[in-house]
Amino acid sequence: MRQVGRRHRWVLAGGLAVVLAGCSWSSKPISLPPVPTPEAASPSAVESSAPGVGAPGLGDPYFPTYGNGGYDVTTYDLKVTLGPAAGHLSGDATITATAKQDLTRFDLDLHGLTVDSVTVDGAAATFTRTGDELVVTPAGKLATGKSFATRVRYAGSPEANRDPQLGSTGFLSSKGVTFVAGEPESATSWFPVNDHPSDKARYSITITAPNADNVISNGVLQGKETTGGQTTWRWSESAPMAPYLVTFAAGDLRIAESTHNGKPVRLAVSESVPQGLVDTAIAKTTAICDYFEQYFGPYPFDAYGAIVIDDPSVGFSLETQTRPTYTAMMLQDGDLDGVVAHELAHQWFGDAVSVAQWKDIWLNEGFATYAQWMWLEHTGNVSVKDTFERLWSSKSSPLWTVPPGDPGNQRVFNNSVYSRGGMTLEALRLTVGDDAFFQILKTWVTDHKFGNGSTPQFIALAEKISGKDLDQLFQQWLYGKTRPDHP
Ligand SMILES: [Zn+2]
Repeated sequence: MRQVGRRHRWVLAGGLAVVLAGCSWSSKPISLPPVPTPEAASPSAVESSAPGVGAPGLGDPYFPTYGNGGYDVTTYDLKVTLGPAAGHLSGDATITATAKQDLTRFDLDLHGLTVDSVTVDGAAATFTRTGDELVVTPAGKLATGKSFATRVRYAGSPEANRDPQLGSTGFLSSKGVTFVAGEPESATSWFPVNDHPSDKARYSITITAPNADNVISNGVLQGKETTGGQTTWRWSESAPMAPYLVTFAAGDLRIAESTHNGKPVRLAVSESVPQGLVDTAIAKTTAICDYFEQYFGPYPFDAYGAIVIDDPSVGFSLETQTRPTYTAMMLQDGDLDGVVAHELAHQWFGDAVSVAQWKDIWLNEGFATYAQWMWLEHTGNVSVKDTFERLWSSKSSPLWTVPPGDPGNQRVFNNSVYSRGGMTLEALRLTVGDDAFFQILKTWVTDHKFGNGSTPQFIALAEKISGKDLDQLFQQWLYGKTRPDHP
């Protein structure tokens, strides 16, 4: 994710005298559920209350109610029909999971919408709704290790979330395009899900929309069929994906198709955006990926692409898997490739390798920021070293008071997570040398690809490859509350 305001700071740092007009967020009431306080962040808050009951949250230290305990999802088969009224959908989701404990009851996460029926392995199940929990009681006990399929049929008008920093998130519609984008949560707004990046799964995403709409989603288009006035588009993402990276866009989109390295490339832009700067920026997608491959290892996925939406209430761009979602204003204002490089770097760091807990968010944002600095240097702009030195030279920078390795659940998108996170990698590079540094990055992706990684695992890998004791370096850069020593 890259926020509008933050990109603005980065543009100034890059020496371009571009002033971004304030992003005008609407004054609609905020419907975002309150962020749990750190005091509530005890795993005990989400422990099972009885044997056989899956916990209503995974106990993430920052967001303990996110996700659910007791099972692990392997595949989502989502069938969503848009309409007939604007903003309305009907859904038919089959979630195949493996029980990690004996289960007599388990939860899925779903915000709003009306659930019509739930079956487990074809047998009717009873269900209740409590807040954003869909509580399912199957007809019989699910034994540990059993694979089971939960089918949920539902309908309604998804509610957009409002975040004071990010603007609108979730299931949104603007200028004739319906789309989904949001972090750390967005999936719950449109399908029943185990909504935490530690439970990655494969996805089939089938969207039915009026014939006039173009539809794009994650991964590879498997086919489309037209029946009467509607067309059904069948997409699949074969690599495991965290729920917040699942997306689609449908409506008035212009689409440029090609192939690169034998993989499909699909670039979709809201028709309301004038042809020009935006198309030029996202056309660099494959060149940027080819550049990153040299340093991070092979591009991890089976497809390339981009989705550009035109919604001034969205204050961020997001690394949705294989198809980053860009808000047009971030591409139209002078920063032609910075944000594209940032979201594409996330395909390695964030998407292929996902955080195990949200407190490790610097593993996504610090790495994507560092890669963005590398692209800037590669294209003849400021060097990574100069970027580092400029940021380090400020003794009273707010970066020094927020530890990027544990920023707190209200500050997961704080500038420190991005900039000081990126500086942490430059400090590592200056300490271990280029060869060891890039071997660490490549090995990190190889070791954790399609799974999750944690900060202690990254530190252990860096020490193993470099042969150096790096405790003090990481302690200062990730967890200290004063300016670290210059490496
Ligand atoms: Zn990011």
